[in-house]
Amino acid sequence: MSGADRLVEAALQARQKAYAPYSNFLVGAAVESVNGDIAVGANMENACYRLGVCAEQSALAAAAQAFGLGKVARIAVVGGPRGDDTGGGGPITPCGGCRQAIAEAAQQAGCDTEILCCDAAGEDRLTTTIRQLLPAAFTLD
Ligand SMILES: [Zn+2]
Repeated sequence: MSGADRLVEAALQARQKAYAPYSNFLVGAAVESVNGDIAVGANMENACYRLGVCAEQSALAAAAQAFGLGKVARIAVVGGPRGDDTGGGGPITPCGGCRQAIAEAAQQAGCDTEILCCDAAGEDRLTTTIRQLLPAAFTLD
């Protein structure tokens, strides 16, 4: 299994633990460190809709605890409607807020974080980077 496959598989497993009773759109994310460690997260919704947390930010929070944002190298995101584990819906990409959160980690890591955007099966993949997805991110500077 390649490093990318391993990361996508971790995101797929995280997606199974998503808490999304409102949208029924399950998303999993896996963050890989420069050393190959992986931290995962899934979307976690809330009856007060705006308090829901995306999978990417959930995984970044776990990564901050596991190995630190300064070691973030790559992120995989998988998603699709509940019951769809076979894919076909096309790759999903991070929302605007998550793009900014990933840009924050990228700045801490000093790299252009690679992002593997995938469908619910992890098979249809779009490989991109945070600078491509958010070219004018806010920075600490
Ligand atoms: Zn998001």
